[in-house]
Amino acid sequence: MGDFKRDIIKLISLIFAVSAVTLQIINNMQKEDNYDLSFEYINIKDMAQTKVANKSETTTEDLMNSVFTGYTTPEIVEVSLPNAKGFQEVPFTGVRKIEKAPEVPKRVWYLPTEIGNVTQNPHYGHVALDITSPRGYNELIFPVANGVISGIYRDNAGALIVTVLHDIDGKKFTSQYVHLSSYANGIYVGKPVTINDCLGRMGSTGYSTGVHLHLALLDCALFDPNDPNCRDLNGFFRYANYRLGQGYSGLGTMMAVPGNWTQR
Ligand SMILES: [Zn+2]
Repeated sequence: MGDFKRDIIKLISLIFAVSAVTLQIINNMQKEDNYDLSFEYINIKDMAQTKVANKSETTTEDLMNSVFTGYTTPEIVEVSLPNAKGFQEVPFTGVRKIEKAPEVPKRVWYLPTEIGNVTQNPHYGHVALDITSPRGYNELIFPVANGVISGIYRDNAGALIVTVLHDIDGKKFTSQYVHLSSYANGIYVGKPVTINDCLGRMGSTGYSTGVHLHLALLDCALFDPNDPNCRDLNGFFRYANYRLGQGYSGLGTMMAVPGNWTQR
């Protein structure tokens, strides 16, 4: 082989190497924007709205369902899971103004299980409470306040998740219930629920090391396209960590959560 051919081969190899590095850099840049990619999303909103439309008494539903108008979420990302592989930390940008945690009537918030033990408190990357129960899979999960179911989905790790939208004196909150073993019968997106309506059973689906509930509570309307803070789960994740930096720690900010309890 002559020198010329060798040089050509070297040049082509170099081009391939540079291309590969460039692609990797672009890939990493995209990841920073999206945190985690390719999660599965089960959109049952159309089914839910059909059910709501068929109901005779739609006053409350209409009011709350206005939140879901135009609701489209191309990607669902399970957030705040402590054991997720390749978890990527997101730096605070500091672009929003610092604001005080909202004062809400604490009596509206209830514990999500009848019996519970807090095993993990909120911290950066995990803006949620982890709660176990001696009943294990038999423990039923309830909303922390009255509201409307805003999401029923599972991530690509298989975690069954329900989210509930709360309207407290005109201010929107979202509670998120992760790792359920099963959904309660008859739940659907758009369904009004009270603190006594079961959402499902405690479980260990998805990235989980044992039977527990991962409970996030945030002062925004998840999946509401008009909510700039958390119209999707990436925003929810970003906003939760931003609020944590302000001293907001989800349900712990809203009420005194005991380390363990034997009744709600
Ligand atoms: Zn958790």
